[in-house]
This record gives sequence, C-alpha cells and structure tokens, in this order.
Amino acid sequence: MTTFNRRYHITTFGCQMNKADSERMAGILEDMGFEWSEDPNQADLVLYNTCTIRDNAEQKVYSYLGRQAKRKHEHPELTLVVAGCVAQQEGESLLRRVPELDLVMGPQHANRLQDLLEQVFAGNQIVATEPIHIVEDITKPRRDSTVTAWVNVIYGCNERCTYCVVPNVRGVEQSRTPEAIRAEMVELGRQGFKEVTLLGQNIDAYGRDLPGTTPEGRHLHTLTDLLYDVHDVPGIERLRFATSHPRYFTERLIRACAELPKVCEHFHIPFQSGDNEVLKQMSRGYTQEKYRRIIDTIRRYMPDASISADAIVGFPGETEAQFENTLKLVDDIGFDHLNTAAYSPRPGTPAAVWENQLSEEVKSDRLQRLNHLVAIKASERSQRYLGRTEEVLVEDQNPKDPAQVMGRTRGNRLTFFPGNIAELKGKLVQVKITEIRAFSLTGEVVVRQPVTI
Ligand code: SF4
Repeated sequence: MTTFNRRYHITTFGCQMNKADSERMAGILEDMGFEWSEDPNQADLVLYNTCTIRDNAEQKVYSYLGRQAKRKHEHPELTLVVAGCVAQQEGESLLRRVPELDLVMGPQHANRLQDLLEQVFAGNQIVATEPIHIVEDITKPRRDSTVTAWVNVIYGCNERCTYCVVPNVRGVEQSRTPEAIRAEMVELGRQGFKEVTLLGQNIDAYGRDLPGTTPEGRHLHTLTDLLYDVHDVPGIERLRFATSHPRYFTERLIRACAELPKVCEHFHIPFQSGDNEVLKQMSRGYTQEKYRRIIDTIRRYMPDASISADAIVGFPGETEAQFENTLKLVDDIGFDHLNTAAYSPRPGTPAAVWENQLSEEVKSDRLQRLNHLVAIKASERSQRYLGRTEEVLVEDQNPKDPAQVMGRTRGNRLTFFPGNIAELKGKLVQVKITEIRAFSLTGEVVVRQPVTI
C-alpha cells in the first residue's frame, strides 16, 4: 500500500470515550505511515469521530462534512471517514446523504480501522455498523497528552436510560481483563505518563461480564478490585475513573478510594434529576435519597472530596416543582462542577417519541437558572482552596500566558502558576493557592526551606 507521506486529520466530538477512540485510531493511522495534519484541508484522509448526544455536534458534523465533500470533487484521492455515534445511528443513510463518503464506521469498529481502510483503498465504499465482539486492543494510541492518559476498561452499556443513545450505538457491556488493563498501564508508566483515568460509560458495571464469583456470590473482578490490581503500576502517580452510576456505586468502592493513596479524591457521579418521578421516567434505577446517601458516605470517608455530576433539565413532562427538586439537590450538595444540559430528543430513544415534550423556552429558562446556581455553588466550593497548599500535576503551558504552567489538583481543579513548562511538565508540584475562581485557581510554587535540626 502506498500510504507514505500521506496526512490525516481527525476532528472529535463528544465524550471522553470518543476522545479515547480517536487516540486509538490516530495510533493506527500513524502505524500505517500517515502523518498528523492540524489543517483538515491539507489532509489526504479526514475522519470525523461523531457524537449524537450534544445538541449541535451532529449539525456541525454535517456542515464540516459538506465542505470536505466539495473538496473531494477537486481532489478525488481524498479519503472521507465518519466514525462514532452518528455513523452507528445513521449507517447507510449517511452514504445516501453524503455519497462522497468512503467509510462509515460505528464506535465498536475503531480497532479495525486499518482493515476497513484497506478495503476502501481497494476501491470499496464501506459501512461497518454491525455489532461485533471487541477484540483486545493491540493498537497503540497516539495520545494527545504525554502526562495524562485514558484507559478503556469496559465498552458499551447494558442500561436503558430512556434519553440515551449509547446502548444503541456502543452495544452491550464488554469488560477488558485486569491483565490487559494492567499491561497497558505498565507501558504508559514506562513511557512517562503520570495519571490514568479508567474509562467506561458505566464504569461500575466493570467485571460483571467476566467469569468468576467469590464465595459470597460477588463478581470476582469489580472496579474496586481493579483499583487494587493496578494501584502499584510503576510511574503512575494518580488514578481517576469515570463515569460512575449511582445505581451501582458501592461503599466498598468508596473505602478503596479512601485507602489507596493514588486514587484522587474526585468523584464524577451523574444524578441527572433531583426528582424521583423524573428519575423513574428516565429509568435511572435510583432515588434522589440514595444519591444523597452516596455523597454523604463519600464525605464521611473523605470530607474534602470533590464531587461533580451531570444533570438534564426539561426532560419530557418535567414540572416546575420537579425542576425545583433538582435545584434543591444542587443547592444542598454543593457540587464542585456540574455539566448541565437541556433535554434534547435523540432519535431511536424511548423519550424522543413521548408526547409531553417541553418547549424550548421552558428548557432554556431552566437551564439558565440551574447554571446560575451551579456557578454560585462552585465559587463557594472554591473558597476552601484559598491559602491552602495543593498538589498539582503539571500538564501544559497556560495557552493565554506563556510565563505560567497549568495542571490539576487531586480534586480536579484547573490550576495556573508561574513556571517553566520545560522543567515542570509531568511533575507533581506543591502550589500555594492565592486566587480562586468558580472553576479554576491560581497559585505559586511552595519553595521548601531546608530544616536544620
Ligand atoms: S448508564 Fe444510561 S446514560 Fe449512561 S451510557 Fe448507559 S444508558 Fe446512557
């Protein structure tokens, strides 16, 4: 195959799972001899890794694609690929809409990119959206960071939340073995990565599909067991995991996080709504009381832990009183960060065809009111950092001020401080916090004075 000196470009929409898939696909393309091109208009292969969750992401994909399809008329050798959730959902109809496309591939097929492209280069137009059993990752991702990395531990989701397309597009749960995960992390540690985030759409489901149970009937390989399994990987200084599901979140997991020093005191646990009836309509499988109990337990073990979550407002049929229950939950818990979204119907999901949809005005009014409260609560949560010394893992230069570097605290607050990136990249630095904002901090390096005894 004559792929030498060819350039590729990937634009990624959506969640961390998509970003991790894009990194794997970039790794495959580089193994095939492609080189990265920042500018899609200079690339010989353009891949859009798409998302159907975010409102405008899907529209953006179509407009970007339209431009590339036009370019293909002048450059017929251009290869056009759509991967991810839009590809999975639209399948062949995407080809009818954009006949210039060469390859449409669902997220489960990311590891097969080379195979699929070889068929494209042999002159075929390919649609790969059938469910497949995911074979173990043998690909080396091209990671966007050299300090922090994502590691997939479970693909797919067996839940059936009524607003979500993930089960349709990413298929059933498939856990990787602890050995494969550990091997990937050992390699990351060897390459100098310092922080790993273990990823899954519903990470608490990890291990349910792996063989083996304990004498008490518990699955042998749970997320908690996995944290113990990988905690001592040399070089990896910090561990995080996402996304947690309140239905399956256990006290055993909380205890492990409190006990294992490398696991950061930050929990991302979407609650989606603070109202039990809405939660039922969403098929989330827990109540707001259970959610509060989880947070109480976390705070009992780790009083300073950061808590973030996702919430949806304007779900079909949500009344003003039900929305106020969400406000109340946010007010009571005091999140460090909350990703908020107005409900938007996703094709192929149950709630999309319900008749009790709310108007855009009501949804956007609720979203604004919630966001206002979120910013107030996040500012309050930031107060506790003022004057404190925090451990920051330096990831990069501050793009707005080259005299500063930036990184994250263990609680996941973005932090800036004066420093030289060439010296500090990948280092854990003690930083005294001198300025706080709702979602970020500024500080200065703590210089340790030698102690004479
Ligand atoms: S747990 Fe629910 S919201 Fe999350 S991926 Fe699965 S179906 Fe979607």
